[in-house]
Amino acid sequence: MLILMKNGATAEEILRVKQKVQSLGFRAHEIPGAQRIAIGITGNQGKIDPDIFATMGGVEQAVPVSRPYKLVGRDAKPENSEIRIGDTSIGGTELAIIAGPCSVESWDQLITTAKAVKASGARFLRGGAFKPRTSPYAFQGMKEEGLVLLREAKKETGLKIVTEAKDITTLSAVAEVADVIQIGARNMTNSSLLEAVGELRTPVLLKRGISSTIEELLMAAEYILARGNLNVILCERGIRTFEPATRNTLDLNAVPVIKKLSHLPIIVDPSHGIGLWDGVTAMALAGIAAGADGIMIEVHPHPSEALSDGAQSLKPARFLELVAKVRQLAPILGRTVHEESH
Ligand code: PEP
Ligand code: MN
Repeated sequence: MLILMKNGATAEEILRVKQKVQSLGFRAHEIPGAQRIAIGITGNQGKIDPDIFATMGGVEQAVPVSRPYKLVGRDAKPENSEIRIGDTSIGGTELAIIAGPCSVESWDQLITTAKAVKASGARFLRGGAFKPRTSPYAFQGMKEEGLVLLREAKKETGLKIVTEAKDITTLSAVAEVADVIQIGARNMTNSSLLEAVGELRTPVLLKRGISSTIEELLMAAEYILARGNLNVILCERGIRTFEPATRNTLDLNAVPVIKKLSHLPIIVDPSHGIGLWDGVTAMALAGIAAGADGIMIEVHPHPSEALSDGAQSLKPARFLELVAKVRQLAPILGRTVHEESH
């Protein structure tokens, strides 16, 4: 059930509706919108009688929600959510460009990459310190040391940091450095971790699980919103199919479908999506053309020496070419790309 408040409903009226929801033993979630506030009700097993709310002051309408997700859906908020991250945002007119190495490996590697990322006009530096690798024998990341380097790179470049939280144990250390906390594909169904980032207010980049449906991705986002963190950015990063020629199959269908179902921003990760560096630019442009709010690109100064995902990483010069092409495409779609002032 969603309670749609009238445009101009008072704080008092909103509070009374929330108290009513709580008195019935349910949870009330306030979802601010451009025109009006919606109050989502969760915790009910059966149907709730809409008449309980329809007559309350300030209530426009009480509408039952048939979809399994309530807070991430367009019913709750018809307009797009723009997630604020300091002096920038994701989900507005400006396309978000997030780039950097798969893993933080050394100061030299990180700062060389970060400088190219900054020069491109991108506002976000990515880099994993805690890496959830498929093999226990593969490089697991620099861990806390990697976070220190990310913090330093942020100080030196002013770029916002996107880095992964792999588990609850290390979440608070990651949250201290991250402007955006990444939840990786392997953790999309880790409900405890989703609830833990839901308790924070730091924006979360939630990647689609390797074999997850669009609805499962939206339900994972619902876990985070249900805990009060409305700052979620979705990420299509490719799904597992029968096709072995590419690492994954970048499901660009997901972009317009999710745009229709949810108000949350969605970005595309063509690096993991195709897994081949020489296909990354094409799929990044395709993702933007499909309506994505941004892209996440793996960049490494020496891809052949990378400790993870070298085969899909672009050299800085190629990354700059990619962004130049995105810049040409953006106006056709009514989008902008930030320009670095020299
Ligand atoms: C990554 O972004 O480097 C990563 C591990 O991605 P995913 O979780 O999508 O595999
Ligand atoms: Mn990677």
